[in-house]
Amino acid sequence: MSSDPARARRGICLVLSAAPGVGKTSISRELLATETDLSLSISATTRAPRPGEQEGVHYFFRTPEQFAGMVEAGGFIEHASFLDRSYGTPRAPVEQALAEGRDVLFDIEWQGHRLLREALPRDVVGIFLLPPSLRELERRLRGRGQDDEEEIARRMAAARDEIAHWDEFDHVLVNEDFQQTAAAVRTVLHAARGERARQPWLDDFVAGLLRE
Ligand code: 5GP
Repeated sequence: MSSDPARARRGICLVLSAAPGVGKTSISRELLATETDLSLSISATTRAPRPGEQEGVHYFFRTPEQFAGMVEAGGFIEHASFLDRSYGTPRAPVEQALAEGRDVLFDIEWQGHRLLREALPRDVVGIFLLPPSLRELERRLRGRGQDDEEEIARRMAAARDEIAHWDEFDHVLVNEDFQQTAAAVRTVLHAARGERARQPWLDDFVAGLLRE
């Protein structure tokens, strides 16, 4: 956010999508720890919390009935089903952040990215992370130790489905090395902040420059 209100820009919806296990959560964490003006959109979901997951930090955990009520009330910018569970992006915090020139990071899958782009076509910058190989992805999923065999099989099938949508994104990165990928994501964010269309104050500013 600019300290000069006259130079306020509109915030960015930075979407980071990937198959589960590719590393988007670690990269999100790194960015959120180091970037000012960037906050995470906390989704609502009907799935049960995994060990260590906290209400309001990782997700807002809701019953299917509560989730349906939020859909009915127009409380989501987008919502989608994934592995038979519902996930949705609460509307109010995102709209407020964008209007105040703060950027919002989204850790959502391809359907969410597509729907978010439809809802906010000028605000979304989409980045897709690919794994170096599917074998490596399966190794990482097992390494998390969070899921049983059945869940791993479901997640590998979902991974193939997710990867099939790689070409809907503005930027695509192969996550070989965590630090390099995080740096590349950061570069995309910084470049997007400087886009002309996000800085409506420039018209007046340049007119003033030319009058000097
Ligand atoms: P998980 O259950 O592993 O936390 O998430 C499963 C998938 O749902 C991930 O690909 C995650 O990015 C996606 N997801 C999380 N929140 C949302 C959301 O608000 N909307 C959509 N469309 N997908 C989401």
